[in-house]
Amino acid sequence: MKLKIAGGCGEHGRNCFFVDYTAPFLVDCGIMAGADEPFPNLTEKEIKRLEYVFLTHSHADHTGALPWLYERGFSGVIVVPAPTLEQLPFKPKYSIALKKLNGEIGGIKFKHGRSGHCQGAVWYEFHIAGKKLLFSGDYTENSLMYHCDPIRGRSADIAVVDCAYGNGSRSFSECCDAIVHAVSEIKEQRRTIVFPVPKYGRGIDLLRLFNENLPELTCCGDEHFMNQMNELSERRWYRNKTLYAKLYTPGTACDILFLSDPQLRSSYSQNIAESILAGGGAAIMTGTAEPGSVSERLINSGRMKFLRYPVHQNFAEFTELMKRNKFARVIPFHSPELQIDSATIEL
Ligand SMILES: [Zn+2]
Ligand SMILES: [Zn+2]
Repeated sequence: MKLKIAGGCGEHGRNCFFVDYTAPFLVDCGIMAGADEPFPNLTEKEIKRLEYVFLTHSHADHTGALPWLYERGFSGVIVVPAPTLEQLPFKPKYSIALKKLNGEIGGIKFKHGRSGHCQGAVWYEFHIAGKKLLFSGDYTENSLMYHCDPIRGRSADIAVVDCAYGNGSRSFSECCDAIVHAVSEIKEQRRTIVFPVPKYGRGIDLLRLFNENLPELTCCGDEHFMNQMNELSERRWYRNKTLYAKLYTPGTACDILFLSDPQLRSSYSQNIAESILAGGGAAIMTGTAEPGSVSERLINSGRMKFLRYPVHQNFAEFTELMKRNKFARVIPFHSPELQIDSATIEL
């Protein structure tokens, strides 16, 4: 059995791990936004042999290359937790929505647990041919809204673990304090603050942060953001079911405005952000701005502030996870700062 890193190590994006075994499968199949080589490093021969793709969650850096995979001859089955399947922008031809925590598909035994990163985000542990392989997916134990089943006391021959913040050492609470502090300062000047957030993920975590720490603020969201509020009673994924926000319509007075368009790609989001900035408002980006995006332009021109809200592990958390488990070999992924020696590992 071999593990081939087809993308995602030493870079941010196109996460894709190829397990070459009797029933060859991928864990994730992501795209690298704004890159010359956006797709995973897989040959057509490898793609045609693939029987399964296990997805850790719906974000494009984990799923965005699936249409490309189909174009190159993939005819296997997508294995995925039910919310992730619903969040995909297309419907896979063959798919299995995971219900039970443990399972076996095509001779591949596996377990999965919630990874705290967004609704439907999971980690996987595979048992194949006497070997154990663990993939953390995008992982955080800090989320204010999403459940995490902490990875503890597990053993694996190889573990591919989120360390997206590279050597960065700022703690979750330091990052939260910085955001709350910045928002309080801007609010003293009575200005609206725009937060571009992913369709699924840290947006509602930020809403919880503001509901708890700055309850006097009026928070609003666009239609997609508000639709997520209807899902909060899903106790399997959400830690809290009560959040306070109003639907934004142009002209609504609000302190905080969440736009479900992290890179501000749509003209709808761009127009709202521009009109708020032109009226003396502010904008704060809390995650990665993609090269060439409107969000990147606003940050580079000093019109949007960057303050990270952590939804991955930093190096200290990554190291702590190593101590709490027995992994014979660990591969950090999701960070340009952490390179690996070899892309193919014999197991
Ligand atoms: Zn993600
Ligand atoms: Zn990711």
